[in-house]
Amino acid sequence: DTIGADLDRAIAAYPGREALVDVSSGRRWTYAEFGAAVDEVARGLLAKGVTTGDRVGIWAVNCPEWVLTQYATARIGAVMVNINPAYRAHELEFVLRQAGVTLLIASLAHKGSDYRALVEEVRGRCPDLRETVYIGDPSWDALTAGAVSVPQDRPAVIGAGLSCDDPINIQYTSGTTGFPKGATLSHHNILNNGFWVGRTVGYTEQDRVCLPVPFYHCFGMVMGNLGATSHGACIVIPAPSFEPAATLRAVQSERCTSLYGVPTMFIAELNLPDFASYDLSSLRTGIMAGSPCPVEVMKRVVTEMHMAEVSICYGMTETSPVSLQTRRDDDLEHRTGTVGRVLPHIEVKVVDPVTGVTQPRGTSGELCTRGYSVMLGYWEEPAKTAEVVDAGRWMHTGDLAVMREDGYVEIVGRIKDMIIRGGENVYPREIEEFLYAHPKIADVQVVGVPHERYGEEVLACVIPREAGDPPTLQEVRAFCEGRLAHYKVPTRLSVLDSFPMTVSGKVRKVELRERYAEPAG
Ligand code: ATP
Ligand code: MG
Repeated sequence: DTIGADLDRAIAAYPGREALVDVSSGRRWTYAEFGAAVDEVARGLLAKGVTTGDRVGIWAVNCPEWVLTQYATARIGAVMVNINPAYRAHELEFVLRQAGVTLLIASLAHKGSDYRALVEEVRGRCPDLRETVYIGDPSWDALTAGAVSVPQDRPAVIGAGLSCDDPINIQYTSGTTGFPKGATLSHHNILNNGFWVGRTVGYTEQDRVCLPVPFYHCFGMVMGNLGATSHGACIVIPAPSFEPAATLRAVQSERCTSLYGVPTMFIAELNLPDFASYDLSSLRTGIMAGSPCPVEVMKRVVTEMHMAEVSICYGMTETSPVSLQTRRDDDLEHRTGTVGRVLPHIEVKVVDPVTGVTQPRGTSGELCTRGYSVMLGYWEEPAKTAEVVDAGRWMHTGDLAVMREDGYVEIVGRIKDMIIRGGENVYPREIEEFLYAHPKIADVQVVGVPHERYGEEVLACVIPREAGDPPTLQEVRAFCEGRLAHYKVPTRLSVLDSFPMTVSGKVRKVELRERYAEPAG
């Protein structure tokens, strides 16, 4: 179905239940009110001449207008282009030009970013861009005021003519391994995926989903927004961008039943000095995804945050995103040791990255996925699409995985992150898991750096628990020796205050690798 038709169903079934709450501004919408607000934005867009297939950019931090824009563009079949709020002028220009954005909806300013100034800087070089509407500005009021010139039923009439296979959204990948790529997705891709993710965590109209994850990324807009509304649940926005204390405050005040985050977000929440003072007893479930989830963190989330049914998801922007997910009644071992099993209507296989031959269960190889969830393609980049989606429509994920006998899948790491030290394959994840248990280490990332003799050597970048008392290389090595194979024991150590991150909360290992690319002494 289309996103508009699915929303109509939720509005008809739960008109009086809450659909959207913005905690920082105190604004809230029931499904009936939300539907009316979406229609107003949809009509405002039509009044501005936006038609089916036009690209509407959204460059904003989390706010209700983001969500309204998501559903309004879907209603009229415009293609929403998600733009990362951390982008600077040259990246903004790249996306606006590449996607041919005609209308841009943007935040005014947030945490030192003056979005209007950045738009002004690039506007002259983006010939397709006709207009920018700023949220919280008279231009937004003018957009919604323009709705009166368009008949009430117009968005519905247009929506009736849309096909669920039409492109609806261009989402850029996180840019963890290089420059972000624009995945073009249909209603069918993302609505189905949101629905199945929500079904798997067991959402009903009783659920209230706290979303500190950025909407510009699939985690927020598909697993979060579509996951919630396709089951009549409520979207709760704790703050415009991630703040651990604001997140827990929102869970407490809104009695949220579900909380999302990448592992680093949960770590930040659990490490708040006043963590114990929040009442998180309303939580039942949530989703942790995006990068490997350390076992220790997961245990604390289950016990100290009451998220007994918390789900791990594995996915990527190109596959709408989720293909593997743990189930509500999985035991802790499956919930921590694997990323779950395949979702309905999706296929997965693990292949030898060189020969393409399917590996037996228990043997590692490249994970491939197929089904409704595979993107239409990278926007206007057929050659790049063909590099990852093969003739049989299998998406080659670039991730190394092992499928267990019981169908649960372990992610071993990214092919690009694998360290080859003196001919031995080293998976950073395994060493990271091990070092998390070191008493002086709060967070750790392991990367391969060039070494004259071994090709690569193992570098551990650590954030110490106490800034004044970091572990030494000798201590780290002593901790590993005899418990990890000798070639996995880090030979270099770097102590940092923080890691370079993407806005979706992932550590940019490429950047760490570049930083230490010079062989040490
Ligand atoms: P880019 O493709 O631009 O380098 P990216 O791959 O990080 O960035 P996303 O599409 O946001 O962009 O993320 C998908 C990737 O995230 C997957 O390919 C995988 O490497 C990683 N990932 C997602 N979920 C998990 C998980 N549960 N455990 C481990 N890794 C995960
Ligand atoms: Mg990727």
